[in-house]
Amino acid sequence: CGIVGYVGGQSALDVVLAGLKRLEYRGYDSAGVAVLADGGLAAAKKAGKLANLEKELADRPLPSGGTGIGHTRWATHGGPTDANAHPHLDNAGRVSVVHNGIIENFAALRAELAERGHDLASETDTEVVAHLLAEQFSSCGDLAEAMRQVCRRLEGAFTLVAVHADAPDVVVGARRNSPLVVGVGEDEAFLASDVAAFIAHTREAIELGQDQVVEARRDGVVVTDFDGAPAEVRPYHVDWDASA
Ligand code: GLU
Repeated sequence: CGIVGYVGGQSALDVVLAGLKRLEYRGYDSAGVAVLADGGLAAAKKAGKLANLEKELADRPLPSGGTGIGHTRWATHGGPTDANAHPHLDNAGRVSVVHNGIIENFAALRAELAERGHDLASETDTEVVAHLLAEQFSSCGDLAEAMRQVCRRLEGAFTLVAVHADAPDVVVGARRNSPLVVGVGEDEAFLASDVAAFIAHTREAIELGQDQVVEARRDGVVVTDFDGAPAEVRPYHVDWDASA
């Protein structure tokens, strides 16, 4: 229901949690985060309110890093359990993805992945994306290209944001029939389902167009369509009151 991604010089966990709080008004049943740190990926997710996730993080702190993603979930496929909460990971625990929307053809993709030996840990439509991204990344070595290839196989509505432990300074996002906004800060970038998530940090935003992929790094963002052709971006200044 809410998505936040961050890459920059601040603690990704702090930025992402604060962003998720700004999106709480939308309603949700579970929450989770993942950060890249020390060459690996660490994640925490919990059914229930953000306070449950914060308690989990207090009991089992994540290492600190500058790249991370977070999610508040409104369950559509699979009940509101810890296992079904996002982020979802691949079997190696190297890639992590959050998703708003519904992947209509997930059953066929699940069956295909199971046949190739993937072990799916949740009942969600979302988890297939983590496994497909891991496969594509291992053949092309480029997270944005992997996302483009995966998106071409998906049907339905999705905002997707992902990180990979082997691409430590990158957050990628994609969208179809569901919103994704990019916040361009000084030496940092934000991806979110709503500008409210990053308005405290930057007011320079780019609305991602239909069927586009964004690759965000500290020094800027690159937007393409699902085939990799550069997309025209429409930057705008968010001028509404942050406290509203
Ligand atoms: N369909 C996904 C799920 O049920 C995403 C739901 C959402 O938009 O939060 O996990």
